[in-house]
Amino acid sequence: MSRSFEGVEALRDVSLELRRGEVVGLIGPNGAGKSTLVNILSGFDRPTRGQVLLEGRDVTRWPAHRRGRHGLARTFQHSHAFRALSVRENVEVAALGVGVSPREAARRADELLELLGLADEADLPAAALAHGDERRLGVARALATDPRFVLLDEPAAGLPEAEVPELAAAVRSVRDDHGAGVLLIDHNMALIMEVCDRIHVLDQGETLAEGAPEEIRGNLDVAAAYLGESAVREEEE
Ligand code: ADP
Ligand code: MG
Repeated sequence: MSRSFEGVEALRDVSLELRRGEVVGLIGPNGAGKSTLVNILSGFDRPTRGQVLLEGRDVTRWPAHRRGRHGLARTFQHSHAFRALSVRENVEVAALGVGVSPREAARRADELLELLGLADEADLPAAALAHGDERRLGVARALATDPRFVLLDEPAAGLPEAEVPELAAAVRSVRDDHGAGVLLIDHNMALIMEVCDRIHVLDQGETLAEGAPEEIRGNLDVAAAYLGESAVREEEE
């Protein structure tokens, strides 16, 4: 797919496949087009050229909520929680939105708040959450729809380093226990390298590299885009 914004090509001929039961990392510097790609995949934006297939079906023109009911969920870079609702209610509402019973929504909320380490905050208004808890609530809300595919836009951004392993465990659980496909955008390379089965690198709207974590780690182009020339020279020495 490609996407132009008034002449600026945010994405150029990018092709990405996400299968169930795998975690694909989507990395690249700020402005590379990562969020634009997630917006197009999830139905919050349309490609200028190209198409989006969901389990073989052309969903390019489908609105986001319809993709949601067909198993595609996402988180946002900025919190979209209902601030006046409790943490638990936020998760329940997300589940109710895809048509499950109130009883099932409550069950999912219990399970997900436990999984994401939010059980103690369940009855607080979402507005009262610390930044890291807010990030994890976003993930819990996405998972409450029991997605077959979930797109996580920088879930670890601003998360204290000590809380990253818990997030990594949650991502693995979504893949291993629920069999979902996860697209994980993040700048935390330790997290990306640790949990991803494959990595897709974008730079200035184009695919720079794709491969297993160890291949990507060794790719000097990636290092250049990420760390700047000096870091690449150090690696070469
Ligand atoms: P990333 O998430 O990798 O940081 P984005 O997808 O947010 O990158 O942005 C990619 C490029 O597209 C940037 O140059 C950004 O300014 C541009 N862009 C994104 N959304 C819009 C928009 N709605 N209107 C105009 N330009 C946009
Ligand atoms: Mg972004």
